[in-house]
Amino acid sequence: MRCPECDASENRVVDTRASRGGKAVRRRRECAVCQSRFTTYEHLEERPLQVLKSDGSPEIFDRGKLQRSLQIACAKRPVSASQIDEIVDAIYESISGGAGLEVPSSRIGELVMEALEPVDRVAYVRFASVYRNFQDIGEFQDVVDHLNVRDVRQVQAKQQEEFPF
Ligand SMILES: [Zn+2]
Repeated sequence: MRCPECDASENRVVDTRASRGGKAVRRRRECAVCQSRFTTYEHLEERPLQVLKSDGSPEIFDRGKLQRSLQIACAKRPVSASQIDEIVDAIYESISGGAGLEVPSSRIGELVMEALEPVDRVAYVRFASVYRNFQDIGEFQDVVDHLNVRDVRQVQAKQQEEFPF
């Protein structure tokens, strides 16, 4: 399992616990090279968690997309990669713990806002403003996926004009 920050393959497990009501094992790992922490899950192969977009079409839950949308909301804010990782974990726990394997994308958007609000007010406002414009986290994530770095900087510059904190 390679470190998402530096790609090193050596790490140690710092915490192991049951998750998803005992259906999975969650491990926090610490990279031996850069000391960043990340999470891995071990679970039975099963039907993947589906996200229902606002038009009702299903999409397989993509942890990376959720992470990237948080990274953009938190760009240049005092929110660490590890904190973002923990928010993603908490959201995943929350949506995958129930009996259903389908979750509306609007629920994920609400959970992101709930999680960001106490962590960083600016990141929260950024996410909320963009998210509410799109009304659909799937759509928001599609946009995020298609943004290149220059676009991201432009979006940030625009947001700084709109929210001069
Ligand atoms: Zn590393």
